[in-house]
Amino acid sequence: MSTLEILAPFDGWCAPLDEVPDPVFSERMLGDGVAVDPVTGILTAPCSGRIITLPASAHAVSIRTPEGIELLVHIGIDTVQLGGRGFEARVAPGASVHAGDELIRFDLDVVARGAKSLMTPIVMTPSQGLVIQRRRAAGVVAAGEILFVIAGNVISSPQQPSSAPDGPAVSRIVPVILRQGLHARPAALLAQRARAANAQVTLSAHGRTANARSVVAIMALGIRHGDELRIEARGADAAQAVAGVIAGLEEAAQREAAAGHGTQTTGAAPPTGTSLPTSAAPRAGPAQAGVLLGTAAARGLAVGRAARIERRDIEVREAAVDPAHESAELERARVNVRARLERVAGAGGAERREIIGAHLEFLDDPLVNEAAHDLIRAGKSAGIAWRSAIRRSIEALEALDDSRLRERADDLLDMEMHVLLALAGEARPMHLPLPERAVLIADDLLPSELTALDRQRLAGICLARGGATSHVAILAGAMEIPMLVGLGSGIREITDGATVIVDADHGTLHTAPSPAMVEQAQAAVESRRRELAALRTAAQADCRTLDGTRVEVFANLGNASDAAAAIANGAEGCGLLRTEFLFIDRETAPDEAEQLDAYQAIAATLGAKPLVLRLMDVGGDKPLRYLPMPAEENPALGLRGVRTALARPDLLRTQLRAALRVHPAPRVRLLIPMVTDLAEILAVRAMIDELKQELRIHDHIELGAMIETPAAALTAGVLIRAVDFLSIGSNDLTQYTLAMDRGHPQLAGRSDALHPAVLKLMAAAAAAGAAAGKMIAVCGAVAADRCAIPILLGIGVRELSLVSAGIPAIKRQVRGLRIADCRDLALRCLELGSATEVRELAAQTILTGVAR
Ligand code: PEP
Ligand code: MG
Repeated sequence: MSTLEILAPFDGWCAPLDEVPDPVFSERMLGDGVAVDPVTGILTAPCSGRIITLPASAHAVSIRTPEGIELLVHIGIDTVQLGGRGFEARVAPGASVHAGDELIRFDLDVVARGAKSLMTPIVMTPSQGLVIQRRRAAGVVAAGEILFVIAGNVISSPQQPSSAPDGPAVSRIVPVILRQGLHARPAALLAQRARAANAQVTLSAHGRTANARSVVAIMALGIRHGDELRIEARGADAAQAVAGVIAGLEEAAQREAAAGHGTQTTGAAPPTGTSLPTSAAPRAGPAQAGVLLGTAAARGLAVGRAARIERRDIEVREAAVDPAHESAELERARVNVRARLERVAGAGGAERREIIGAHLEFLDDPLVNEAAHDLIRAGKSAGIAWRSAIRRSIEALEALDDSRLRERADDLLDMEMHVLLALAGEARPMHLPLPERAVLIADDLLPSELTALDRQRLAGICLARGGATSHVAILAGAMEIPMLVGLGSGIREITDGATVIVDADHGTLHTAPSPAMVEQAQAAVESRRRELAALRTAAQADCRTLDGTRVEVFANLGNASDAAAAIANGAEGCGLLRTEFLFIDRETAPDEAEQLDAYQAIAATLGAKPLVLRLMDVGGDKPLRYLPMPAEENPALGLRGVRTALARPDLLRTQLRAALRVHPAPRVRLLIPMVTDLAEILAVRAMIDELKQELRIHDHIELGAMIETPAAALTAGVLIRAVDFLSIGSNDLTQYTLAMDRGHPQLAGRSDALHPAVLKLMAAAAAAGAAAGKMIAVCGAVAADRCAIPILLGIGVRELSLVSAGIPAIKRQVRGLRIADCRDLALRCLELGSATEVRELAAQTILTGVAR
């Protein structure tokens, strides 16, 4: 090749990469090129080639030209967070395209509102032998005009590394705790680290392998939150290369956490990666023969036989007898539905209980019921009145500019069906005998329809319509059933019983796969299942280091549905229930009964396992709508945590009463957030003692203090006398020690809990715990950080509480460590000068100590 012209993908304003507000692009980590600020929402191919990656979120696309050059177009900055909202893919990965072909449509308004910037970098991923010869100056550009010209020959594309270097292979398996998986930004960090090493590095997951030097190849692995990533290196610097890639992952996690998309905020990986309104038009039909594009609502891969379901109409009696009779009929039907739903809820997991709880609310909704009774008074039959009342509410929801609320329309439809069936004297909404490994094909699906199906036979779900954040999607995620929504009417063409592949990692449904594809997909499903099962099984056992020291591994929870997943992942209890998240969307403060219900549901899911319930940590970066606070110059240093609680004793009292009423009482331990001095603990303790008398509780209630401020860490020896345990909140402790806002994007890379100053404070708190013979736990993000684990054990931490998806891997790591080695490492780290040095030393030690 001598030259290749790269064309503008849309009309807009051309600018140099330096103006892109993201160092991944402005520092050219992903390669050289230009940026265009779009004025239209249709992205066309900047050159001819094959689509290598086009994630389900459709916010970026990469193309490989026949010459082997890889180009990446990333629409806007931080758009992965939109989870597909506002984007629509018009081609599928693997498709061949010509320059100017339409690739993605996007809604400029929606994306502009949700993104940091609309600046769209168009970059050539680094490749030896290629240079940009000419590039367009800043200014207006029209789609199809030349942006830059690439010259040279591909000497070694990152896709085709030179021959394998000598030397033994070093490999590691690590969990990916990034909420959005390995998208462009973390992939760039990893590739940069891999390129810096004198080694050949490969990454593998889902049965696929990628050259770690290629951002595009990494993205094409489709790695999502909670996946295991195998890193393997060969060559002179193999060990350093693996350590470098792990450090890259950790840096990405730190950046993500600091940017407010914390890996720790809600615990388990979300079941969905994207969001498409229920009522949104289905996506484009087949982009390629045999492939339908959709949105991943619950990720995963499945191979199975298509099983179509058609919802049958329920007969509704039109003629009314008289209003009194119809009213009584409606009430009888509602009572029956309630009784049945409560029975089903009792037999299911936390998600099911929660969703049915929401359905019961709809059943009792005063607006719906009043409208139905008005219609009955106007002469309608119970069925017609109920259906009309529900449909009115659905119309109102569908008019809203909020996809999550619009998706609640499905729940209302579910309630419509239940009551109409009860009126018609029928019980179950649907009973479909499924074949083995069924892939359910339907226009849409209601939560109760899903729960009525035989889980053992259900391999995947594919819907023509549907929303990625709907309750049925949440249920599918919790049941670990890969699910695609928004596949369009094309799925009606699928023959019943046909073999299909649901690739919910990439948003594609293969409707006519070749036998070789089926075999490959089956092998990938099986190998992933085995890996996960083995790791999870091992995680069920108690965790001890090589020398027999017991380390408890707990989960951080933000809601009831996290609890069941936590147990499956081997959590020995909940080490941090962020109670403020339970009621975050509320307009009014939850009363005692509501709080008790929420806590009791979590305690019930945990069974005999302990529950550390943190008192509401409100203020700072966690404002609550129902608790408006006066504006503060610097909220992080203002009224937050226990300070807010003591300023509003009415709220604290209500929460404490609810927490104390959870039974059995001794299993719940209370934790005070943002402590700075002993007086705060004593004030909370005094209120607990008073309430215990009121509630006639005689058991000792364990109370702990969070170590999140330098003041608490330095006076831990005093504080511990008034509490039963300490829990280090490394997120805030880092923010307050380094004077770096935990949400500051530019400081994200430096705000690191492994800074020696933060380590020293944690070590001081741990020493105070050890001297008093009391438990010292860590529940901040650092507890999921593999570099940090040996250091934390070395300073005396014996309880870790982390996002549950990371538990199996952390338990495996702990089992390979020796406390004496951890102590040596910790002592050396405390004397270093920066977090980078600590990370390098820790990574080295981990590699030489437990490398496989
Ligand atoms: C912490 O600060 O580390 C912590 C666990 O609390 P949060 O992240 O909820 O502020
Ligand atoms: Mg905190």
